[in-house]
Amino acid sequence: MSKLYFYYSAMNAGKSTSLLQSNYNYLERGMKTLLFAPKIDTRFGPPAIYSRIGLKQAAKLFDEEFGFYNYIQERIKKEGSFDCALIDEAHFLTKQQVAQLVIITKRLALPVLCYGLRSDFLGEPFTGSQYLFAWADKLTEIKTICYCGSKATMNMRIDEKKRPVDSGSQIQIGGSESYVSVCMKHFVESIKQIGEIALQKPKPMEVKQ
Ligand SMILES: [Zn+2]
Repeated sequence: MSKLYFYYSAMNAGKSTSLLQSNYNYLERGMKTLLFAPKIDTRFGPPAIYSRIGLKQAAKLFDEEFGFYNYIQERIKKEGSFDCALIDEAHFLTKQQVAQLVIITKRLALPVLCYGLRSDFLGEPFTGSQYLFAWADKLTEIKTICYCGSKATMNMRIDEKKRPVDSGSQIQIGGSESYVSVCMKHFVESIKQIGEIALQKPKPMEVKQ
């Protein structure tokens, strides 16, 4: 059975590098792959997956309207079967797209490897990751560390003066200059949101008759 894999981590843990390494392993064995990256990330120019250590590989870009099932089915019709699909920044997928990936692994028997972040700079889950956590066959954490040496699980946005930022839009593309990966202890010390949620007054449950 082909599986849907989700490799998750905080920022700057080497997700794109792992993806490109996996892709290389497939190609080295004479296998065919399909690479995808979100349209959002135009930091470096042409449509491709770039890793911080200088690797790069051309990729098909997806936006929220992109249909993975139809696109992959078409490619298979034209070019024959593929061995694997790899998706970078998979936290930007929509719920529908994650559902399509589930169907692709099962009906088209194509393994799909997704790489993405668990949560945003306020600690809120990304939609894509939420459904990948719920529906992927296999979850694997790519580990990185906080400045204190503990495992980093959170992404802290920082400004030009390296001060933590706790408001703004969910999407702001940047690398190590605008984000640092930190452990939860150091995240809640700098970013107020999770602490505030903890202190909210519970809402009474709605009772349905
Ligand atoms: Zn820490």
